[in-house]
Amino acid sequence: MIQHDVVIVGGGLAGTRAAVEIARIDPRLSVAVVAKTHPIRSHSVAAQGGMAATLKNVDAEDSWEAHAFDTVKGSDYLADQDAVEILTKEAPDVVIDLEHMGVLFSRLPDGRIAQRAFGGHSHKRTCYAADKTGHAILHELVNNLRRYGVQIYDEWYVMRLILEDGQAKGLVMFRIRDGEMQVVRAKAIMFATGGYGRVYNTTSNDFASTGDGLAMTAAAGLPLEDMEFVQFHPTGLYPAGVLISEAVRGEGAYLINSEGERFMERYAPSRMELAPRDITSRAIAREIRAGRGIHPDGTAGGSFVYLDVRHLGREKIMSRIPFAWEESHRLAGVDAVHEPIPVRPTVHYSMGGIPVNTDGQVRSSPEGLVEGFFAAGETACVSVHGANRLGSNSLLECVVYGRRTGATIAHYVQNRKFPEINEQQYLNQAKQQVQSLIDQPGQYRIAKVRQAFQDCMTEYCGVFRTEELMQQGLAQLQAIRQQAQQIYLDDKGQIFNTELIEAFELQSLLTVGEIILTSALNRKESRGAHSREDFPDRDDTDFLKHTLAYYSPAGIEIRYLPVTITQFQPQERKY
Ligand SMILES: Cc1cc2nc3c(=O)[nH]c(=O)nc-3n(C[C@H](O)[C@H](O)[C@H](O)COP(=O)(O)OP(=O)(O)OC[C@H]3O[C@@H](n4cnc5c(N)ncnc54)[C@H](O)[C@@H]3O)c2cc1C
Repeated sequence: MIQHDVVIVGGGLAGTRAAVEIARIDPRLSVAVVAKTHPIRSHSVAAQGGMAATLKNVDAEDSWEAHAFDTVKGSDYLADQDAVEILTKEAPDVVIDLEHMGVLFSRLPDGRIAQRAFGGHSHKRTCYAADKTGHAILHELVNNLRRYGVQIYDEWYVMRLILEDGQAKGLVMFRIRDGEMQVVRAKAIMFATGGYGRVYNTTSNDFASTGDGLAMTAAAGLPLEDMEFVQFHPTGLYPAGVLISEAVRGEGAYLINSEGERFMERYAPSRMELAPRDITSRAIAREIRAGRGIHPDGTAGGSFVYLDVRHLGREKIMSRIPFAWEESHRLAGVDAVHEPIPVRPTVHYSMGGIPVNTDGQVRSSPEGLVEGFFAAGETACVSVHGANRLGSNSLLECVVYGRRTGATIAHYVQNRKFPEINEQQYLNQAKQQVQSLIDQPGQYRIAKVRQAFQDCMTEYCGVFRTEELMQQGLAQLQAIRQQAQQIYLDDKGQIFNTELIEAFELQSLLTVGEIILTSALNRKESRGAHSREDFPDRDDTDFLKHTLAYYSPAGIEIRYLPVTITQFQPQERKY
């Protein structure tokens, strides 16, 4: 059996930052990072616009308290304020630390790190590397993994979390290259498995964002927190859905409807295009519904609006947002220097996730913690984003809480023994699971079932929700689950059987989708990204609390966790 003191699943920003911290604190520990992609191909590498921190290089009036207030207001008061204070206080330090590791941030003329405006932030505080920030940071972190001797298992798919008697003991994993299966044991397991954008049919996320870590956690009987809060990013490129960074609006782009109006005037007059994402996405969806969207031939009534950067001029476009220009050109045939970019909302980020405390330890209930199990990054819910995340706060969360969780783990594993695991039993079960997938006759292709599922989630649990819609969605989901039992695989082989991986991922998607729908049905109010047309107001009396959803094949049980409020009492949220 393979063993390491610590095994981290996920090679994105959160996982790699944690690994570096553990190795720095105690170089004697054996640390492994497992990822189903190569770590450099984790979704973090695609992050564009930047990372917030009150360095005050551009705006001397900024403060961590202002950053904390913006984050809490952005969250529609659902964020845990102790966690937000840690996030915003530690932000400048983690940015400087990244810069010392070698991350090439964009600069001001005097050489200090540049900072730009971002939606919902009251000051210019987002640090960036043009519009390729994730690329700049992840490459340096992965280089550091090698420098610190962290063992990397790339292209291993983790199938199962081994949890016994309230303790995480290990994992079952599958080598994509040749189908080899292994049980791994560890004194501490950390999940940094990213988001679940692929639950929907239009998303900015990569193909690997299938919520596996969430599904494995749920399958082990542990709760997931606030899963109803799905972030729609306002500017997905039409029709592909890939992201046009918020940095584009940070640099001054306009949103325009079919009548040529800057329609944000109606929805957020003081912040305009730089209102938070939930508000801007709903504004675009409303414009499209009202017939003021645009068709590809330029006439009214279509399903996108324009993002216009022409007034910024070629030089600014090419130096500050070159990637946005390139994407529009390559994927939509639009030269943004001369033409407006067609955009519509796209699923982007999961505010909810595996519930953790501010040290990254996973919660088993409102009161309890799981031994040996930690999580950070997008897959975790600590909760700094509450009901709606502000742009450039996610990379920050990955690094601040990746580092904190790494530090907790480095101390946690001292003087602990390796857990006992019945290796053979877990291996047999996994082999059986794989064999029956390969052998079953089945009648549906995976892609067909996945598409039906993604369409169902998009139609019944999208930007606007109602009881009736979601009940229909849940009924359809049950039917799709039946079909998912009857899939067949064309590829029966061992070598790079990506179809088998897709079959595992389909199971993850279905579990996560059902938890999102059930949590959303249960929250009878509108808050942040969760917008119920049958309950249009925020209801602090009944719902100023976090959802904890416990999954079982027989049904989902909902419990609650209180919200931590320190300095900012809930107010009406206006921009
Ligand atoms: C296009 C885009 C642009 C963005 N831009 C910004 C931005 O400018 N600023 C900002 O703050 N945020 C941004 N975000 C959000 C931010 O990038 C992500 O939330 C963050 O990078 C997530 O990092 P992570 O470490 O949690 O997970 P990820 O980077 O998603 O990594 C997940 C890792 O888990 C591994 N994994 C998952 N499942 C398994 C399994 N079953 N077995 C083995 N390994 C597994 C994957 O291989 C991968 O290595 C953006 C997101 C997108 C999609």
